[in-house]
Amino acid sequence: MSTLTDGTPSGAGRHERRGTAVVVGASLAGLLTGLSLSRAGYDVTVLERSGPSPRSGAALGINGDACGGTRLPAGSDGAAPSLWALASGGSASPVQAWSAVHARLRAAAEADPRIELRHDTAVTGVGQDDDAAWATTSTGRTLRADVVVGADGHRSVVRRGVAPDKPEATFAGYVLWLGIADEAAVPAARRLPRGHDRPDILDAGDFCLIGYPLPGEDGSLAPGARRLGWAWFDPTRNDLLREKGCVVGDVVRRSLRFDAVPAHTHRELAAAARDLWPAPWQDAILDRVERRAVIGTPIAEYVPDRLVNGRLALVGNAAHVQTPMTGMGFDASLQDAEALADHLAGTSEVRAALRGYEETRLHGARDLVRSGQQFSRSFAGGGH
Ligand SMILES: Cc1cc2nc3c(=O)[nH]c(=O)nc-3n(C[C@H](O)[C@H](O)[C@H](O)COP(=O)(O)OP(=O)(O)OC[C@H]3O[C@@H](n4cnc5c(N)ncnc54)[C@H](O)[C@@H]3O)c2cc1C
Repeated sequence: MSTLTDGTPSGAGRHERRGTAVVVGASLAGLLTGLSLSRAGYDVTVLERSGPSPRSGAALGINGDACGGTRLPAGSDGAAPSLWALASGGSASPVQAWSAVHARLRAAAEADPRIELRHDTAVTGVGQDDDAAWATTSTGRTLRADVVVGADGHRSVVRRGVAPDKPEATFAGYVLWLGIADEAAVPAARRLPRGHDRPDILDAGDFCLIGYPLPGEDGSLAPGARRLGWAWFDPTRNDLLREKGCVVGDVVRRSLRFDAVPAHTHRELAAAARDLWPAPWQDAILDRVERRAVIGTPIAEYVPDRLVNGRLALVGNAAHVQTPMTGMGFDASLQDAEALADHLAGTSEVRAALRGYEETRLHGARDLVRSGQQFSRSFAGGGH
C-alpha cells in the first residue's frame, strides 16, 4: 500500500515515494510530523479542522537544548535546515511567540511538494485493516494511507483508535490565564532591563505566574520594542470553568475565549494583579485585561499507556498531555516527530516501525507527564 486514496492524488509522480501518511491536526506537532515524514520519503496529507487564517497563541517554550542533535543551524553542511531551526527561525531565544513558530512551520509545509495541507477538514474517526489505515472526515470522505498519525491535540479523535480503553485526558484542577502585551504599553521606568531574556517565575499564595520577554513583531529585543507574554496559573476558577462548559466532569472541553470571560472575572483579575504581581508583569496583565484580550485555558493531563496501534500512531498532545509548567510541549512534539520519521524511513514494515517508535518514546513521554503531575498535585491539590 503506497497510495493515498480519496480520489485526489497527493504528490503522485513528482518523487519516488516510500509511503503515504495522513496526519490529523496542523498545529505544531502535526506540521513537525508532516515535515519529518516528508523528509523520510513519505507523501503526506495533513488535515486540519480550523480554517487557513493565521492563528493566535501566547508564549511558547522552545528549548533547543532538550532537542539533542536537532539544534543545528539552518543550512549547516549544505543540509536542509533541522526542524528545530525551521521552527525557531534560527533564534536561540528559549521562548517565542506561538504564532511565529506556527507560521514558520506552516510556511515550510506549504513549500514542501510532498505535503498537502487541507484546512476546514475535521476528522471524525479513524480505522485500519491489514493493508491500510484511514481517516474519515465530517463531510464523509475517507482518506486511506500506509499510516495515520494523530496530531490532534489533547481531545484527540485518533487516540480513540489507539487507546479506546483510555481515550480522554483529565482536568488537572486549574486554569492558565494567558496574554501577550506590547512592552510599549508599560511605562519606561517599569520595563525589564535590557538583555533580560529569561522567563520570570513568581509565586504568590495560591497562584503562580510565568512572565516571558519576547521579541517584538519585527524581532527587536530593545526595551520598549519587546512583547511580554505571561501565563498565570489559577486554581480558584474551577466553578467558572464548569459553569461555562469548559470543563465537564473530568474532561477539558475547550478554552474560555476572550469574549466569554465575564466582566466580573476581568475586574477580579485586575484587582488580584495589582495585589500579587510586580512590574512589568502587573502592567502587562492590566493591559490585556483592559483590552479584553485574556484567554483562559483549563489544563489537562494524559499519561499514555500506548502510542500506537497497528497503523495508527500519536504524536504531541494527542500522545501525552503535560502541564505547560514542564515547558516541554514543543520539545516533546519535535522529539516525537523525529523519532516517528526515523523509524518509518527506509522500511515498508509500517507496524514494526510504529512499534519501534513507541518503544523509543513511550517511557520518556510518561515520565514527562508524571513530572508535571507532581507540580499539579502540589499546586491544585485534589480539589477539582
Ligand atoms: C491556536 C493554538 C494556540 C496555542 N498557543 C499556545 C501557546 O501560546 N503556548 C503554548 O505553550 N502552547 C500553545 N498551544 C498548544 C501547543 O501547540 C501544544 O501544547 C504543543 O506544542 C503540542 O501541540 P500539538 O500540535 O500536539 O497540539 P495542539 O496545539 O493542541 O493542536 C492540535 C491541532 O489539531 C487540530 N484538531 C483537533 N481535532 C481535530 C480533528 N478532529 N480533525 C482535524 N483537526 C483537528 C486542532 O485544530 C489543532 O490545530 C496552542 C495550541 C493552539 C491550537
